[in-house]
Amino acid sequence: MTINQSGWRPTAPASGAAAAPTFTGNKALMLEEPLIFEIGDAHTTGVDFAEGDVAGSRLGDLTRKTPIGLPGLSEPETVRHYTRLSRQNYAIDLGLFPLGSCTMKHNPRLNEKMARLPGFADVHPLQPTDTVQGALEVIHQLAHWLVTLTGMASVAMSPKAGAHGELCGILAIKAALAKRGDTDRKVILVPESAHGTNPATAAFAGFSVEDIPATAEGRVDTAALTARLGPDVAGVMITNPNTCGLFERDLKAISDAVHAAGGYVYCDGANFNAIVGRVRPGDLGIDAMHINLHKTFSTPHGGGGPGSGPVVFSDALTPFAPLPFVEKQGDHFALVEEETAGDHHASSFGRMVAFHGQMGMFTRALTYMLSHGADGLRQVAEDAVLNANYILRSLNDTLDAPFGGSGPCMHEALFSDDGLADGFSTIDIAKGLIDEGYHPMTMYFPLVVHGAMLVEPTETESKAALDQFIGALRSVAERAKAGDASLKTAPHFAPRSRLDETLAARKPVLVWKEPGLAVT
Ligand SMILES: *Cc1c(COP(=O)(O)O)cnc(C)c1O
Repeated sequence: MTINQSGWRPTAPASGAAAAPTFTGNKALMLEEPLIFEIGDAHTTGVDFAEGDVAGSRLGDLTRKTPIGLPGLSEPETVRHYTRLSRQNYAIDLGLFPLGSCTMKHNPRLNEKMARLPGFADVHPLQPTDTVQGALEVIHQLAHWLVTLTGMASVAMSPKAGAHGELCGILAIKAALAKRGDTDRKVILVPESAHGTNPATAAFAGFSVEDIPATAEGRVDTAALTARLGPDVAGVMITNPNTCGLFERDLKAISDAVHAAGGYVYCDGANFNAIVGRVRPGDLGIDAMHINLHKTFSTPHGGGGPGSGPVVFSDALTPFAPLPFVEKQGDHFALVEEETAGDHHASSFGRMVAFHGQMGMFTRALTYMLSHGADGLRQVAEDAVLNANYILRSLNDTLDAPFGGSGPCMHEALFSDDGLADGFSTIDIAKGLIDEGYHPMTMYFPLVVHGAMLVEPTETESKAALDQFIGALRSVAERAKAGDASLKTAPHFAPRSRLDETLAARKPVLVWKEPGLAVT
């Protein structure tokens, strides 16, 4: 691509797509968008500053010797750049978002209204607690709901995402083992169907990770797991419902065996949406579990955050949970910031974050809970499971469902690429779905299924929306089964066509180079 005097214009297609037949490269309201460096070059600026009369720099040798090379843009140029890019995004506010494991449900607007109330939106984490009693009450009430819904003893509110919550739970397990002098337990067992964050968390916390195989029906192999338990095992990390979209029916028996062998049970609770109001993880013998407020409790996510991943704890792990806690002392909500000898914060392993967590997410999640009520939350789980089973059974005749024989699924339907024409795979279906106007489903995960396609519709889609999605997926799958060559180069209608993903992964171009400048 080159830049000409009258503005940016593609003179060569970016990746095999035909050049747009317009002067600008725009296609009606779908606007071509150059890099920000190509709009405002390093020689222009959006502001006029008088030459400074600073005598000299105190940075000495550290003073920058070359220009910093940032693009200079005016405010409207900047606003337009990011607005245009945002229009190339897919979002839950545009359509059904079938990304399995991510629970892309509608974010009720009431939540947004509450989160924007100045008393919640404008508080500062260092304000005296007397001036933020309402905000602390929200945290306290939300904590109460989370503990009640999960049947656990306590909750740490501060972790800022699911993976951050995993780390919180595993650090509590580590602290509990250290406290009883049990430091030889170095192994965490993780089923091979686990989310990648589980083994990453265990490794990050200093444990070694061992895989536990799945059974032919897509559940943890309980016999293999219990056989591996011993004095070197710190605990297990199990997702329930699991990433194959199935409930781990043996979890209570697994927990009992792990406890009998001296270990702890971490449950990845990211899929809580399928069982909220129906199953209390505490009844399954779990010691720690994170809850993704940004999945189950409808707070917005995607695009990097903010998330919120409170962690519920059993009695055994509660003393080790991180600070701070909000505590009701008489009529007053207090922030417990220090370990207090003798009480249940006695052995806290420390802190996960500087302050108290994501206030905006807390307010949204509590609004969601209060507006649904306990019965409404139970119905959330029931409808999410119903919608997923509707998709699973509607596509029975078209796509292979590897665990379709294992009974109803939970909140997500899992398909494989078995039965597609030679040379066609999951990625072709995903790219075809983009042309149909959908964000693709989760691909190649879980790893235990070849060419996995994980579809999670959530409860907030209507039957009409599900039917349209099923029609689109069926049509693309039929093209892949018939060997329709046009599918190999899809998407055709997106701003960029099929990219060379191998090249992008192996030789990513991460630095913009000004044309004509030799950059080393
Ligand atoms: C989403 C998810 C996570 C990680 O949550 P983040 O908030 O993205 O860190 C972990 N496990 C499972 C099963 C998930 O679906």
